Amino acid sequence: MNQNKKGIYVDNSATTPVLEEVWQAMLPYFKAIYGNPSSIHLQGACARKAVEESRERIAQCLNCHPDELFFTSGGTESNNLAVYGLAMASTHKNLLASRIEHPSVLNTMKAMEKFDFRTEYIAVDSLCEISKDSLLEKIRCSPALVAVMHANNETGVLQPVEMVAETVHEYGSLFFSDAVQAIGNTEVDLSKEVFDALSFSGHKIGGPKGIGALYVKRGTPIVPLIWGGGQERGLRSGTENIPGIVGLAAAVELATNKLAEIQSVKTLRNQLVSMMRTIPMSYFYGIADRIIPGLIHVCFDYVDGSDLVRYLNQNGIYASSSSACAAHSNEPSHVLLAMGIPYERARGSLRISINRNNTLDEIQYIAEKTKEAVGLIRNMNAEYRARFQ
Ligand code: PLP
Repeated sequence: MNQNKKGIYVDNSATTPVLEEVWQAMLPYFKAIYGNPSSIHLQGACARKAVEESRERIAQCLNCHPDELFFTSGGTESNNLAVYGLAMASTHKNLLASRIEHPSVLNTMKAMEKFDFRTEYIAVDSLCEISKDSLLEKIRCSPALVAVMHANNETGVLQPVEMVAETVHEYGSLFFSDAVQAIGNTEVDLSKEVFDALSFSGHKIGGPKGIGALYVKRGTPIVPLIWGGGQERGLRSGTENIPGIVGLAAAVELATNKLAEIQSVKTLRNQLVSMMRTIPMSYFYGIADRIIPGLIHVCFDYVDGSDLVRYLNQNGIYASSSSACAAHSNEPSHVLLAMGIPYERARGSLRISINRNNTLDEIQYIAEKTKEAVGLIRNMNAEYRARFQ
């Protein structure tokens, strides 16, 4: 265990380090092969080849056609493009999304109201799952688009995407899913025709930051969000990020090929949950087989999640309280509130996202330090002292 030197990184849902194989694959495209893929000389042709080969490799991993993939600057842009692009290409004026979407979907939904779209939101239950009833309750408005993420970034809960797709398609709407947290954690097979559009991002799977893609099923009408030189067949202008695209392809290949190895992460996660369950007044969310393998979301009564994260940080453990985007807000996460978790309890949340590099020694240390931190923080809480001491 080397927490004193580098720390123990258990915030893989926020981001991941670039894998060595990915880094090596990217290197030539910074200096040796630097052409603009739109140029017709040899340098340009080499860059174009890298882009198209990367597209083909990703298509093979996800079982789709290469021309269904559009490179973007990451999950946020892919989500913006999906919501805006599909909505603006439709004649319908209603949009539906789950209440637990990432802010890049929720805030785009809100922005669409300025273009006269009516937005509605699907509730989740206390396990953070969408039910058929909650979907049926809202879908009668005949929305242009229904956005339901594949895996939630705070609780890790996998949504019943097949059920959602079936219902959405029965009602003649399009189904878009944010799969940023799903790729590499669960099988994503685009040939099953569940999704009309699906987004993913490089830096959550051992690839670089600032690169992602949007899958759009052939024949699905969509308009661009960024205009310019017409790259990416007119849907996403801007000179292509060649090292990023090559890195994304390498990362998607590694993530999908190593899916079977994820069992070891599950085992480690379950061990950590058992160790942490001994902390009184701790509430774990998500049912083991219905969440992504490495994620633990727990709330502690009489604890402020940001105090807990700071204490762990001082002890060389890098975790987070709910999502990385909400880390600087004192407000509890919208996801936990949507699950009906009481406000005060939701403020005491901790998200630990481990990966296959974490060890049993590290897990034991995390459990020990979390227990210590919860005890110390509670002892400083006047309400806790008045009730329990
Ligand atoms: N969607 C989900 C579920 C995420 O977890 C994130 C990142 O936190 C994003 C979208 C945004 O992706 P990016 O950081 O690549 O913009």
